[in-house]
Amino acid sequence: MIMVSPPGAGKGTHSRWLTEQTGAVHISSGDLLRAEVARRSPLGLQVAAYTARGDLVPDELILSILLPAVEAAARDSGGFVLDGFPRTMPQALRAAELGAELALTSDGVIYLTAPEDELVSRVLDRARRDGRDDDTPQVIRHRLAVFARETAPLVDYYRGRGILLELSTDRPEADVQADLRHWLETRGLLPPAAGRPEAAQHAVPLNHLLPPATGRSAHLQGGPGFGG
Ligand code: AMP
Repeated sequence: MIMVSPPGAGKGTHSRWLTEQTGAVHISSGDLLRAEVARRSPLGLQVAAYTARGDLVPDELILSILLPAVEAAARDSGGFVLDGFPRTMPQALRAAELGAELALTSDGVIYLTAPEDELVSRVLDRARRDGRDDDTPQVIRHRLAVFARETAPLVDYYRGRGILLELSTDRPEADVQADLRHWLETRGLLPPAAGRPEAAQHAVPLNHLLPPATGRSAHLQGGPGFGG
């Protein structure tokens, strides 16, 4: 499962809930980056300037930290939730390419939404609570603009491939979880509640997410035909 959401939409909370419910491993790109920054590793020192400004870390850097985690989870677990990755079209292409190489399937992409003012106020609350001093009002507005420019095209792309679940989180958490539970049931990832039908939809092989023109030999840069 892949979580694609703007900051403050609840992807951390709902990713953790999904992993608790399904036993999938939680892979959060933001947590992995924050751990590198906290231990002042060479990679951490490189990425800190980007995360502090609210810019995306360059694709090559995020891939160098994410891909080993994905490979390990693909090898050692029954499934995983990608929280915060991919965030750009080249990352999405690389994720699909790797998934095809490892013969993985995707159960779907979850897109959580909320009105912009709500997103800003949630991120500022979290910053106060957790001491995430990179989340100032200017930085959060910038992160939203980066989402609109770099990540929103992925939403359209996955929607076009018919694997997107779009959910508003501008309502009680229990209502969001009820919708997620139903979606998990329809995908056969949780047993259906009494009276509900068996799973009707199935996981998609990752090579279905590669652009038809380039197929499995696609490279990180993407290319013509990708994005529809
Ligand atoms: P998050 O906790 O997912 O909101 O991520 C926090 C910050 O880490 C983001 O604002 C980015 O600077 C960086 N980041 C996380 N995931 C990615 C990614 N897939 N690509 C580039 N930068 C990322």
